[in-house]
Amino acid sequence: MAITDITGFIRPNITKLVPYSSARDEYSGNDAVLMDANENPYNAPFNRYPDPLQRKLKQEISNISGVNTRNLFLGNGSDEAIDLLIRAFCNPGIDNIIVIDPTYGMYEVCAKINDVQVIKVLLNNDFSLDPEKVLSSASENSKIIFLCSPNNPTSNLLKESDILEIIERFNGIVVIDEAYIDFSGTKGILPFLPDHKNMVILRTFSKAWGLAGIRLGMAMADYEIITVLNKIKYPYNVNNLSQELALKSIKKMKLKEKWVKSVLEERNIMARSLELLEIVQTVYHSDANFLLVRFTNAKSLYDYLRQQKFIVRDRSKVSLCSGCLRITIGTRYENRELIKHIRNFNNKSKNNKQS
Ligand code: PMP
Repeated sequence: MAITDITGFIRPNITKLVPYSSARDEYSGNDAVLMDANENPYNAPFNRYPDPLQRKLKQEISNISGVNTRNLFLGNGSDEAIDLLIRAFCNPGIDNIIVIDPTYGMYEVCAKINDVQVIKVLLNNDFSLDPEKVLSSASENSKIIFLCSPNNPTSNLLKESDILEIIERFNGIVVIDEAYIDFSGTKGILPFLPDHKNMVILRTFSKAWGLAGIRLGMAMADYEIITVLNKIKYPYNVNNLSQELALKSIKKMKLKEKWVKSVLEERNIMARSLELLEIVQTVYHSDANFLLVRFTNAKSLYDYLRQQKFIVRDRSKVSLCSGCLRITIGTRYENRELIKHIRNFNNKSKNNKQS
């Protein structure tokens, strides 16, 4: 059943809400004398509030993505969009969200902050998705399903047909978090956006664009959903400096592509080097800028690397990831050094066994 209208899913108090109207909503030109927002007249350009709807930046993002500005929401990281989606659609103490397990932790954290229950659906052993299992876990109060593709920490793309099956059959909102999509060599699920009113795609400037520090993420969705997010966000949620820097980075898009290419080459070298070591059980196939690796002795390797001042992510307590560390791909030098340390640890473990 394709959903034709999502307004029924919005929390009633949000539907009724009269949003804060900021001074800059009323005038978008740049030639007026601004005496409306109680700003300081000195210290230009930092004295002025940013454009609440980030119109210039959205236009540039629209130009490179093909997504209409009406279908774009920009936030303080995609984490802001995750939080807003839960607040827009889930009634605290009543509704729930469905997440795959394992996945990115913020869906659960944001839900719990908002007193929204979380239903977890275990992925298959090969980290693929079982759409039937996800759909049958839904109750009347399930409002959002969060899918993450490529998934963090398992690093694999979810199958397009599985994602579409869930979007088409679920009576609620389906969010597909594509934070790592630039590393996957695919367009992701974006081509299907115009045909699905209940679908939200999350993307971020934190990964391939190399801009985690400016906190800029986006949601792409039907206009009705974007309108709700804009209605409940803080008025000036993306600051001027972030908007300016993102505009500059978009002009240097070739650089981003160069970075992605180099990260992918490095990822493949790292995977091949790790596969040769006795302490490595599995290097999982990756569609992202990190590797999930199962070691024979993850905890002691993690501690050893930390002593060498190399910090990786211990995922060994996460579902389906026992014995696994998650390694983000660094620069060529950093990767070589990391491998050197892991090799040393490997040789020490081998010698210990032999003696
Ligand atoms: N989604 C996923 C899958 C992530 O791994 C992360 C950050 N690690 C985020 C979203 C958050 O991105 P942002 O920096 O845009 O808030």
